[in-house]
Order: sequence, then structure tokens, then C-alpha cells
Amino acid sequence: MDSIQAELDKLTGKSNLSKVATDIDACIKQLEAARNSIMQDPSQHLATMECLTRTIPTQLEKINTDHREIYTGMNRFDKALNKKFKLSASITKTDYDVFRQIDTKLIDKAIGMHLIREGEFEVAETFEKETGVSILDINSDLKEGFVEMYKIVSAMRLLRDIGPAIQWAEAHATELEQRGSTLLFQLHKLQFIWLFANGTKGGPGKLEALQYARTHLSPFMQHLKEISQLMCGYAFGENMPREFFGAPFEDPEKQWDDVAYVFMGEFCSLRGLSADSPLYIAATAGAIALPTLLKMKSIMKDKKTEWSSSHEVPVEVPLPPTYRFHPIFVCPVSKEQTDEKNPPMLLTCGHVIAMESLHKLPKNEHGLLKCPYCPKSCLIHHAKRVYF
Ligand SMILES: [Zn+2]
Repeated sequence: MDSIQAELDKLTGKSNLSKVATDIDACIKQLEAARNSIMQDPSQHLATMECLTRTIPTQLEKINTDHREIYTGMNRFDKALNKKFKLSASITKTDYDVFRQIDTKLIDKAIGMHLIREGEFEVAETFEKETGVSILDINSDLKEGFVEMYKIVSAMRLLRDIGPAIQWAEAHATELEQRGSTLLFQLHKLQFIWLFANGTKGGPGKLEALQYARTHLSPFMQHLKEISQLMCGYAFGENMPREFFGAPFEDPEKQWDDVAYVFMGEFCSLRGLSADSPLYIAATAGAIALPTLLKMKSIMKDKKTEWSSSHEVPVEVPLPPTYRFHPIFVCPVSKEQTDEKNPPMLLTCGHVIAMESLHKLPKNEHGLLKCPYCPKSCLIHHAKRVYF
């Protein structure tokens, strides 16, 4: 991986795309100025054109040189990638090209949304203009929401200013509380840690931190354990025994990043969105699944079997917990996934099976049936539907 990282560093360090853009813009400006001057005074066109023939070739040469640097860097990076990850023939030659089957506008839309989600508003605007795809036709206040979110996150990341984030969390305290979120506490905790280490007047601000804790941490009695750890850390300083109190003051810079990420997660959740961009999640989940699917494909080829079920992967692909969005329940009796028509039912013993399996169990004339997993019996009308 080191060689790939080295090539990437070279590419991002040396090759400067903005230089190309600036040079091209300068060239366009010069041509436009020449056009305007000819329009104003056509008699001078020869002189203007001559001037252009002197300057434009140099400009173009400059642009070419800029481009060359980028292409060389990209080629080298590409080679490093190919050397490390030998592309399997089955990736490059696929019989089923999913991108041909779906509307490319949907992909453009996903890319546009991704740019907005990443805070690249200008790029998203240009992308929208050039592709002609309207990204925000479903939810027009979405962009304003993300502009607000990135303003708050930038204040945290660049200025170490937690104020706007706290203001937002206080304004949405009820909704956050309903979600069981601890965001507001985490923000105040971070501010306490930051004041302890850096203060506001340059140098550690132990007294400031204590004052802050008295005012802002004391209402969070439900987090008493964490507050106790913080206070022990405050009292013991570097001598604090970690095995008892953890390391609440360690790496405050990283804590800013962590809390900013939690903030983005909560901000998106209140809008019914996932913390990460859906395109990013889909691509990452795909990358995780790819090795398993390729292996599966080669096994199927050897056994001369076909991938029969559509919209379903033939093998389970374990994804990290943060990538699981819809809790599913598979009935332990029928091995079928439960749904609205066949929901999970809780027996009085605590075991859960699907409704169809429940009705198939043998029962006596009173509706008494025996749980398939424990010796207890349960009346069928006592079984309750479970909501995940
Ligand atoms: Zn049971």
C-alpha cells in the first residue's frame, strides 16, 4: 500500500488542476478581449490577430505542460494500483452491465447528491448545469440544510469553535432526546476538555474548565459516570490511573473529529438521512462484497450453476454494523424473512417466530400450543406482534 500512497501523494502534491483551470481561464479571457476589441473597431483586426498569434501559442504550451504533469501522475498512480490489485478478468469482462440497465440520470443524481452531502456546493452546481440533471427537485431545502451543517462543522474543525454546534443542539434538544442522543452532553464535554488543555487565553485553562463544568455539565446527571471520570482526570492530571478512569483527556484533536462526526450523524438523522452519503455507502459496501461475490462467481462457474434469485445476493455478505439500516428478522422455524404480511410474533415465553409458523404449530382446542424452542406453552391469542 505504501507505493500507492507515495504515488497518490506525488499526484496530489505536484499535479495542480487549479493551475490548469487558471491558465485556461486566462487564455479564454484574452480571446474574449480580442473579440471585443475587434467588434468595437474592426479596422484594427489585423493588429489584434497578430498580437494573438504571438501570445496564444505560448499560453497553449503552458496549458499542455500543466496537463502533462497531471497525466504523468495519473498514469503512474494507475500503474501502482494495477500492480497492487491485479484486476481479475471477471471484473473487466462482465456479461451483465448494471449501468446499462438503469437510467444514467439516476446515477448523475446520486453523484450530485453526494457532492452536496460532502459540502462541495460549487462543484454540485456546475455538475447540475453540465449534466442537466436537477439534483434537488425532490427536496429543495436539503441544500440549505447541508450548508448550515457544514458551516457548523467547519467552525468546529477549523476554528475549534463549538458554539454554533451547541446552539443547534439546544434548539433541537427535544428531538435529540427522543432519539436517545447524547450529542449535547458530548459537545459540552468536548468544550470542557478543550478548555482544560488550551483555555481561551493561550495555555491550559484549568479554572475556566472548572467554571464551565459547573455551569454546563451539572445538568447532565444521567451521565454522572462520565462526569466523574472527567473530574477525576481533572484532579489527578497525568497521574490518573487509566485502568479506572479511562483516558478522557487523550488526543483532544481526534475528539474534535469524533464529535464533529457524531454531530453530522445526528444532523442527518433528524432529516431522515444517513450520516454518510448513500453513494459512498453503496460504493464501500460494494467494495466489501466484491471479493466474496467474485469467489462465488468462480465457484458457480466450476459447478456450472447459475445465479438464480434476482435482487438478492447468493451469499451472505457481512457488513459493518453502521451499514445495517433495516433490521430484519428471520423466523427460526421457517427460515424465512418476516415482513408486513408475515410479521414476527412474540410468545409468552419470550421466543419469537413468524406468524405463519405460529399458525402452523399444532395446538389443542383452546388454542394452546407448545413453543418449538422451550418446554413452555402459550395460548395463540397471547402471542404479540413485535416491532423492530
Ligand atoms: Zn419458548
